[in-house]
Parts: sequence; structure tokens; C-alpha cells
Amino acid sequence: MMEKQMIAESFELGPIRPPSEAHSLLIRVTRNCPWNRCKFCHIYKGKKFELRSVEEIKQEILTVKAIQDKLKEVSWKSGYGGRVEAVAGAILNNPPNEAFFDVALWLYYGGTSAFLQDANTLIMRTNELVEVIRFLKKTLPSITRITSYGRSKTAAKKKPEELKQLHQAGLSRLHIGLESGYDPLLQYMDKGVTAADHIVGGRKIVASGISLCEYVVLGLGGKKMWREHAIETARVLNQIDPDFIRVRTLTIKQGMPLYDEVKNGNFVRATDEEVVDEEKLFIEHLDCHSYFVSDHITNLLQEIEGQLPQDKEKMLASIARFQSLSPEERHNFRVGRRVGIYDQLDDLSNSRKHNTVEHAIQKLSNDGSQLDEETIYALMERFI
Ligand code: SF4
Repeated sequence: MMEKQMIAESFELGPIRPPSEAHSLLIRVTRNCPWNRCKFCHIYKGKKFELRSVEEIKQEILTVKAIQDKLKEVSWKSGYGGRVEAVAGAILNNPPNEAFFDVALWLYYGGTSAFLQDANTLIMRTNELVEVIRFLKKTLPSITRITSYGRSKTAAKKKPEELKQLHQAGLSRLHIGLESGYDPLLQYMDKGVTAADHIVGGRKIVASGISLCEYVVLGLGGKKMWREHAIETARVLNQIDPDFIRVRTLTIKQGMPLYDEVKNGNFVRATDEEVVDEEKLFIEHLDCHSYFVSDHITNLLQEIEGQLPQDKEKMLASIARFQSLSPEERHNFRVGRRVGIYDQLDDLSNSRKHNTVEHAIQKLSNDGSQLDEETIYALMERFI
């Protein structure tokens, strides 16, 4: 009976959120991406961008509230005194629909954070977005942190007062896909943004008080532009000085225009080891006060993390440690990361894990020889 009632309550969800928003309540305020042309992105290809009306979004926030109330009621009836965490945990094992899962996960982790989907929430009219944020906070008062994706170009077009208004209403953080600071690469990838746009948009966000997280794609320059990509991206970030810099490594899937560029030979991918050279050059050129994070599954060296500038040497030491390994150990580590056995370089000294990776190499190559780059790319892309 309860399950039938629950199934009736649902709301729309978009396809993605940043890794750091895994426990945030997802509220879809726009659909898809208004730009949708980046060659390295397949998420919204073939889907039309749509604004949603404030009324429609408010209705969905009220649905979240109704689900939350229902979970509270079940909690009282089950002897948990209205605490929803225990009930939310049970729902996570067998959710009646995706919306329930979203709400249960959010409540299970404290119910304090919300992420507004999809690709560029800043494109909404500022007064409408302010209204949505205020309504969200009023309806679900446990939420103290609201974040979203935005494009630099859109941020650059907003008046400084508009961004301040959004911050005052409760927008805590914006996640921006900087990807690169090198103009010829931004142009080749059809990002629709220049390095100058990135700087103007990023600086405006920082000045407004909204926390800023800039995403960089390691390997985006391929074999041809990796040096310029590393140096120019650092230059642009130094001028923005965002709160966070997050890196992820280029993955190429069917459905991305870049997939065809690789097939026809116009784009030649960098190997893992070349991407490590690029990351070293990138970090060496950073001169800012950001917190650097590598928490994406695609990154070979996820342990590169720290507060700049003081942790720069520690971060570079992780790279030097990888580069000083023998070729066999570097290969073992790469495969171990790509099949999900290793998390960090220390795992190499775990003999059980090391042997498991050796067996995986034997199995994948048939004769124990080193795996080729294509096989390693394919292993990495299984996660995406
Ligand atoms: S702006 Fe973002 S979501 Fe849109 S196509 Fe580019 S990378 Fe994808």
C-alpha cells in the first residue's frame, strides 16, 4: 500500500552531477545544454535545451517535500521517532522510483545540500533563479548549501550585482567546465568560450562571493597541444584564483564528435604517461591559492591533492614517484588503476593486489606482454 502511494510521487532528474555532489538533492531547473557543441562531450547530444518555468520547478520541490514528509511518517510509525535516516537507508535498497532514491540518498547523508541541474543553470533569468533558490530554502530548510553548473560565457555576461543577488539568495557554489585555457584548443574543441571569457566569468563569480570550482580536462590537448594546454590553463587559473581546481582525464566515447576525429586521425590521444608529464607541467605553472583535487575515477594519480601554493611540492612528489618506477611497475600501476584494483601508488606494495593485477594483465594479453594503449583506454572508459 505504502509502495503504491510512493510510486505516484516523482519528479524529473537530469543525467549528471559533479562527483562532489553525490549526496546532494538533485533538482532539475533546466533541461540539457544550451550550447551542446563541445567535441569531447556526449552527455546531451541529440537533446534539445529547455528552460523550465518557475511554477513547474516549485511543484517538483513540493514533491520532494511530500516524499520527505512521507518518510518522516514511516519513521514515526516504525519507532524511529521521526528520524528519516534509518527509513531512507531502507528505501535506498529498494526505491520505488529514481526520485525516491534521490530524496532518500540526500536525507541519508544529512539533507543539507542541493544541486541544481542541468548544464548551465546561470542561463535562467536571474530573478527567476533567485525565486527558485529562495523557495527551495524555504520549503526544505535543512538545505544550507546550494550548488550548480554554469558556463563561463554566461557568467561573463551577468552583471556583478546579479551574481551577488544569487549568492545572497543562497547559491553557494558554481562548478564551471574550464576544460582548457588555450584558445586554439578551446576553438578546436568547439567549447564556445575563449580564455578571456573564462577569466572574466570566473573573476566575476569569485568577486560575488559564490565559491568557484573550475574543471580541467587532462589530456585534452592530445599529443599536439599538450604543452600549451598545460601552460595556458595554469595562466588562466592563476588569474581567476578559484576556490577549487578539479581535474579529470579525457575519455572518448562513441557519440562524441571527438570520437570521429580520433578515427579519422585528426586527433591523436596522449598516453597515460604523457598525461602525467602534462599534469606536472600544469601544476608547476600554477601560482594561485586554490584547493587542487583529482577525485575523478578517470585520473591515473588520484592522490594528487592539496592546498596551493603550500602543497605544490607534495603534489609534484607524487608525480615524481610514479615517474621513477620501472617501466614494468608503471605498466602494472596503470592497468591496476584502469581495472579498479588500485587507488593510489601505495597499493603497489600490497602483494595481493599486485598479483591480481599481474593475473589481469596475463588474461587480457594472453601472453603476459604489456597491454597496448587502446586496451588501456578501453578499460578506463568502462567507468564512464
Ligand atoms: S557546455 Fe558542458 S554540457 Fe554543454 S556540450 Fe560543452 S561540456 Fe557538454
